[in-house]
Amino acid sequence: MEHCDALIVGGGPAGSSCAWQLRRYGLDVIVMDKSSFPRDKVCAGWITPEVLQALKIDLDDFASKHVLQPITSFHTGLINGEGLEIHYPNTVSYGIRRREFDNYLLRRSGARLLLGQTLDSLHRDGRYWIANESVAAPLIIGAGGHFCPVARFMGANLGANEPVIAAKEIEFEMNQEQRYECQVRGETPELYFCRDMKGYGWCFRKDDYLNIGLGREGNHRLSEHLDNFCDFLRQRGRIPQNVPNHFHGHAYLLHGHAARKQIDDGMLLIGDAAGLAYPQSGEGIRPAVESGLMAAVVIREAQGDYSSMKLLPYSARLVTRFGATTSSGKVGQSPVRNYFARKLLGNKWFTRNVLLDRWFLHSNKASLQVA
Ligand SMILES: Cc1cc2nc3c(=O)[nH]c(=O)nc-3n(C[C@H](O)[C@H](O)[C@H](O)COP(=O)(O)OP(=O)(O)OC[C@H]3O[C@@H](n4cnc5c(N)ncnc54)[C@H](O)[C@@H]3O)c2cc1C
Repeated sequence: MEHCDALIVGGGPAGSSCAWQLRRYGLDVIVMDKSSFPRDKVCAGWITPEVLQALKIDLDDFASKHVLQPITSFHTGLINGEGLEIHYPNTVSYGIRRREFDNYLLRRSGARLLLGQTLDSLHRDGRYWIANESVAAPLIIGAGGHFCPVARFMGANLGANEPVIAAKEIEFEMNQEQRYECQVRGETPELYFCRDMKGYGWCFRKDDYLNIGLGREGNHRLSEHLDNFCDFLRQRGRIPQNVPNHFHGHAYLLHGHAARKQIDDGMLLIGDAAGLAYPQSGEGIRPAVESGLMAAVVIREAQGDYSSMKLLPYSARLVTRFGATTSSGKVGQSPVRNYFARKLLGNKWFTRNVLLDRWFLHSNKASLQVA
């Protein structure tokens, strides 16, 4: 039996950020993940600079060995409509490859790693949780993404009655011919909204890699929406004609629309496991990282007493940072707001100040600073 101060289930951005911060506080941490790293993750791979600041990542060091695509403008519009381009004087976001980024964060966390191991069993023995009959810890942190087994253990009804965002994506390295054909520029990701404003598609180039995808409320006719989107991109000559067809799907929850319990005695959830992605953009990496860091602060302050009372400040911090959660079960969009948003997508002021600055870049929200 291996012992540790905290067992983190899931080595994505939430788990690795929490592990990194806990290690800085001197705790002995194990991260268990069902995948061997590096592993692929269904994601567009767009991050806001505050993610890198919160994690104190040395940009030059990271960029010397990995793809780091600076973003200085966006092309936005409606699918099958005209678009407009918004330029910034500086870098406002980055493109990364999740395969590389997640592996980098996990390896640098300093935690002990149990990779290629699924969490199969969990039970309590006195003040310890026993995972897979092989790891004992007084605290379990659920960072296993949308289908996190710890969330299930805490009573989440995964996949049922939860208002998910369903998305499909492909990322591939373009060959010479595809690179020549591809009109998408690395510094200018392209975002195209569905006419009913229930989702959007993206087309995102990072060096020689092209990432195309579409996410929507629920998964009703998702493939049809995706096919229409790809046809539109091809007709406009944005993407190569022969894009591979093996799109991968995944689901996740938006913050404010999920009602998952976040803490219990000796347990807490971070990142997608807790349903924290930003509702307007679907950006989930920043909330995953920030929730992991905030959880670490609360864990340190609990000083070994991981009763739900002692972990309560974590929920309070989430509310302060991301707002309250409702259990309405509906993704909060009104037809009136959608109508105006659709009209306003052609307006440069709205696109720059509201859609991009406020909803996608959260430029009014400084990076999380954790001592
Ligand atoms: C198509 C798509 C595009 C997206 N694009 C963006 C984007 O561009 N920018 C952005 O910020 N967000 C994006 N998101 C959201 C983002 O991917 C997630 O919010 C983010 O990955 C959450 O991180 P996490 O660490 O909570 O979970 P994850 O990254 O999902 O990591 C969970 C980890 O847990 C492991 N795991 C799962 N089950 C078990 C188990 N039983 N035992 C052990 N380990 C387990 C998994 O192997 C995985 O490594 C996108 C999501 C989708 C679906």
